[in-house]
Amino acid sequence: MNQPKKDYYSIMEIERDASQDDITTAYRRLAKIWHPDRIKDPEKKKIAEEKFKEITEANSVLSDPEKRKKYDQFGLCDGETPDFGAQGFPDLSEIFGQMGGMGGMGGMPGMGGFPFMGGMPGMGNVNRSNKNVSQEVKIKLKLSDIFNGCEKQIEINYENACEECDGTGSKTKKKKTCTDCNGRGIRMVVRQIGPGMISQQTAPCSSCGQKGWISDSSCTGCKGKCTISSKLNKKITIKKNFDYQTKMCLRESGNFDPDSGKKADIYITFKIGDLDDYEYKIVNDYDIVYEHSINIWDALSGHTIYYKNHPNGKKYALKTNQVIKDDDVKVVKNLGLPNDDDGKLTFGKFIIKYNYIYPKESLNSEQLKTFLKQKVNIDGISTSEYVVETLYDPAHFENESRSRNGHGHGHGGHGGGGGGMGGFPDMDGQPAECRMS
Ligand SMILES: [Zn+2]
Ligand SMILES: [Zn+2]
Repeated sequence: MNQPKKDYYSIMEIERDASQDDITTAYRRLAKIWHPDRIKDPEKKKIAEEKFKEITEANSVLSDPEKRKKYDQFGLCDGETPDFGAQGFPDLSEIFGQMGGMGGMGGMPGMGGFPFMGGMPGMGNVNRSNKNVSQEVKIKLKLSDIFNGCEKQIEINYENACEECDGTGSKTKKKKTCTDCNGRGIRMVVRQIGPGMISQQTAPCSSCGQKGWISDSSCTGCKGKCTISSKLNKKITIKKNFDYQTKMCLRESGNFDPDSGKKADIYITFKIGDLDDYEYKIVNDYDIVYEHSINIWDALSGHTIYYKNHPNGKKYALKTNQVIKDDDVKVVKNLGLPNDDDGKLTFGKFIIKYNYIYPKESLNSEQLKTFLKQKVNIDGISTSEYVVETLYDPAHFENESRSRNGHGHGHGGHGGGGGGMGGFPDMDGQPAECRMS
């Protein structure tokens, strides 16, 4: 039996002196990230199931003081890989219920994070002896990349198996079984505890560091380290209307683990990189919020925003014939960021927050008349280039957002495309129009 031992602490991403509270917090955090019910893509789901079982197993040992003590002393794996069988994985609410309290379930803080931070300098990851560490690589995407697609060439530093010794550290390319423990990683220690009385105890093998094998460090290529610093070049294709919250996995492409002889996974995640170039914020993961300054005349007389900066490259005439109040919020459906919910593509909302333009100082009545009548000149805009969209009150989408929040996660939203909007309501008279630069 020369099974590599699982490092429950590194699985839970906690230090060895973690308190019971730390363990609870870590388990909740990881359970939220890896719960298989949250993931529908079969490939990703398989990975999540493995991880979920692993953290559940680690938690079952570390959260039990007796088992933890034994594990700490002897490095024994008492935890059995849980078999969730027919009844499926426990609900997250059960996990949180079991552990008392539902703290932090609402907004899912920290969901953007990723569990295995190894190999990322300065990330404050848990220091682990095991070199088989998954990596996360973050790629910055421009908003235009997200809508139009692109290709990214990335270079990942990792520890590959030394070719000269096949990752064994030995010239012979063979792992030498530890003779002190016969490859078991643990030893029987016999102690005399009294006249004619001995006790037998198991203890971790210090000769091999519980690995069951030793490197004789005779390889000149890696000097016994078993691995060589390497670079992996990879082209990542970002398709059109890409969901930037996608997590990609390069399975068994990363750091080589001499104990198991396997390579770790590399995870690729994305973040939006050019928001400063735009005049808006992203909320609810997929909604775009744009603050628009509006002349009071325009606000009171029906209004169209000619918006030409949308990162999807299209120009939009965003219309309403309602009176707009200072601080008002209007919403266009489906002009936010793409949300690929397991192959079902939807888009977030485009939310406009209006701010009135006020005079800098008080005006006399003549000046006031002029000020109020100021409106944006749309001469020179070829309005036919603009796709017309209707602005709605946020209440129009309230039922949707409620069901979205009910899932406790940014995913959700309904319907695709701009279809079924029924055009924009007929306008009486000439609405005031305004242009955005
Ligand atoms: Zn040994
Ligand atoms: Zn070597």
